Amino acid sequence: MTRRWLFADQLGPHFLDDRRQPVLLIESKAVFRRRVYHRQKAHLILSALRHRAAELGDQARFVQAETYRAALRKVREPVEVCHPTSRAAKEFVHRLDRVTVLPPRGFVTGLDDFAAWAGTARGALRMENFYRYARQRHDVLMDGDGPVGGRWSLDEENREPPPKGTARLDVPAPPMPKEDDIDAEVRAELDRWEREGIRFVGRDGPRRFPATRAEATARLRHFLRHRLPLFGPYEDAMLADDPWLAHSLLSSSFNLGLLDPMEAVRGAERAYRDGKAPLPSVEGFVRQLVGWRDFVWHLYWHFEPGYGGSNRLGARTPVPAWFADLDADAVQAHCLRDVLAGVRDHGWVHHIPRLMVLGNYALQRGWRPAELVEWFHRCFVDGYAWVMTVNVVGMSQYADLGRMSTKPYASGGAYINRMSDYCGGCRYDPKRRVGEKGCPYTAGYWAFLARTRDRIPPNARMARTLKQLDRLTDLDQVVAQEKERGADPP
Ligand code: SF4
Repeated sequence: MTRRWLFADQLGPHFLDDRRQPVLLIESKAVFRRRVYHRQKAHLILSALRHRAAELGDQARFVQAETYRAALRKVREPVEVCHPTSRAAKEFVHRLDRVTVLPPRGFVTGLDDFAAWAGTARGALRMENFYRYARQRHDVLMDGDGPVGGRWSLDEENREPPPKGTARLDVPAPPMPKEDDIDAEVRAELDRWEREGIRFVGRDGPRRFPATRAEATARLRHFLRHRLPLFGPYEDAMLADDPWLAHSLLSSSFNLGLLDPMEAVRGAERAYRDGKAPLPSVEGFVRQLVGWRDFVWHLYWHFEPGYGGSNRLGARTPVPAWFADLDADAVQAHCLRDVLAGVRDHGWVHHIPRLMVLGNYALQRGWRPAELVEWFHRCFVDGYAWVMTVNVVGMSQYADLGRMSTKPYASGGAYINRMSDYCGGCRYDPKRRVGEKGCPYTAGYWAFLARTRDRIPPNARMARTLKQLDRLTDLDQVVAQEKERGADPP
């Protein structure tokens, strides 16, 4: 049986054809020289790779080297590898002798599934349509030919603000991994690398995300049993003292390849059919995996290689150092300060702080989308080129002018106020645009629309907002104030 080379994001058993198949694992130090990763992300990747090597024992050849090329020089036999997850890695493996490249694994749908769907799709490619196709094709939450419950999306039931007067959601905490000797070695090694001059961002801290399949499956089981029921209604909510809410905290496990997304999808469906979790929560979780995750994966390959450089809103401002370096203490705006501190301390915040606090702030100020892709990739434990390119360029920054999203995800402080407990403890007022208490999100929203209205394609969803913009009497003041704020932390 040919030796299977597993990249560090292909670590689960579903990347092998047989549980006894010989394996090649490579740890390249150059990866950490090329990018300034979050310290906890570097820890997680190294810990996961080394745990897998230890689990496989003699079945695996584990090579630690400066580069992949140097490691491969030590391997004489032919190897095969599943389709890697970045364009750079894919081109690299295709250029190698003695390496056979196999189709991708680790997603619900295959490249042929997506091609078949995209071939019949008319107009822009929309996640909702792909999601329906994928559910039918893979018989997920189906009742005959239609969706269970009669509707494909129950999103409207999954947009509850956090319960009033609660600092934390009443849900059992997710099980946290216990660090072991491998983690201690990784921590010591990263300390050594830092002394040698390799830079990281963010704070070190206890490992909070699974590095082994056993840890990931334990977290999945716990989520399905205890946390899934409340996941749906509060999936968009934000609480200053509860960063996890009822989220699964499994995105890094799917993206490291420790879990097969289909096992989570089937588990969630079973929870619904057994009466253990309500349909809106189950459908919301399934949509994140079968819908969003697979959709952005396929778009990464479907769009042209230069897609990541799209910048059709003409965003030219470099990402400022305070943001890039996760200097949350420099920020006074409560929401942004807390979310940036979450990234600094955990390398993770859930999708709404990413989209509506971090991404929204950057979009409003015209920060360069390609720099943001890189930042999200480096700073998040679940960040990879394939997931961040489309999510940041297409969805968060609208830099492709709607090739995968119907409108820019820009909003003022009112959205953050409705969906969080941040505004009560903030020096700004979400209702004010100007003056000492003028909320940077509210002011930034109108300044963004004024700056980009001629570039945003006409769209029924935007028409009413643009009418409101025309009626603002203090717009000049808002724009001047935003100009004065510039790239300073709010
Ligand atoms: Fe954020 Fe504005 Fe609310 Fe302050 S007032 S927390 S800056 S949205």
